[in-house]
Amino acid sequence: MTAKILNGKEIAETIRAEVAREVKIFHEATGKIPCLTAILVGDDPASAVYVRNKEIACAKVGMQSKLIRLPATTTTNELVMLVESLSADAEIHGILVQLPLPKTCDEQQVLDAMSSEKDVDAFHPYSVGLIAQGRPRFLPCTPAGIQQLLIRSQIETRGKHVVIVGRSDIVGKPMGLMLLAKSPFADATVTTVHSRTTNLPRFTREADILIVAIGKAKFVTAEMVQPGAVVIDVGINRLADGTLCGDVDFAQVAPIASAITPVPGGVGPLTIAMLMRNTFTAAQAQ
Ligand code: NAP
Repeated sequence: MTAKILNGKEIAETIRAEVAREVKIFHEATGKIPCLTAILVGDDPASAVYVRNKEIACAKVGMQSKLIRLPATTTTNELVMLVESLSADAEIHGILVQLPLPKTCDEQQVLDAMSSEKDVDAFHPYSVGLIAQGRPRFLPCTPAGIQQLLIRSQIETRGKHVVIVGRSDIVGKPMGLMLLAKSPFADATVTTVHSRTTNLPRFTREADILIVAIGKAKFVTAEMVQPGAVVIDVGINRLADGTLCGDVDFAQVAPIASAITPVPGGVGPLTIAMLMRNTFTAAQAQ
């Protein structure tokens, strides 16, 4: 068996085109242009690239974007006040705090200060609570992208055993909640494993759908995967030679999986597409 390659880039382009069409109709009807404001603290080069990509994505779908750059010395208090003032600004529909913040800042306090109506990353406790109750307002962008990838690739989750490797607040945990929801696009049996799990391969080998988000290059090898499983690789790791690879050993696993995402070109492009979707949803609701 050779796995079908799940082309996230192509699906992301379709989603962006859909959002662009809706933004145009919305603008014609209301005169408004959805606006996303990003806050970038410090000068981490990777964060600067991510924010730039988000600005480009906004422009491509006809949305406005603003970038507020602040020095690494910015305090938690100053960020909280900024987020509160952006939350009250009717011209801004979505707010994004690029993480990680410098270690001197309390991320949770900053995220908690945001209006949940503008929480396009879905990290605010209110957004997380709504997801846990199965009535989300916004879905976190990476898990939402994975869900779209599964839906649009006609991969059934209902009744399937989904094993998620990694329990981060950004990917693993919300992904589990979303796939557990009572919905035709979820309804899965979910197992989440992490760095403290004993005999992790015992669980991964039982997965019909294996979702890996740990940040360890080529961690998942062929012996850890059930033949015929669908494998979603969220990891983005840079190797010594400068190339990117996922958390799954693609060369080993692709021959036994039924479908697999590549890195790059798999989950990554979907994350930004879903941010565009969330910003549009926020603008519509406001
Ligand atoms: P994170 O916050 O660092 O969390 C990593 C998770 O993996 C933790 O739950 C950790 O367990 C678990 N873990 C680490 N080593 C492990 C091991 N040896 N065995 C089992 N579990 C292990 O990471 P994240 O933010 O979720 O990101 C994960 C990866 O996805 C990174 O490569 C990141 O760059 C990538 N990512 C990609 C996108 C995208 O758009 N494609 C978006 C977000 C993240 P503990 O909780 O026990 O420590």
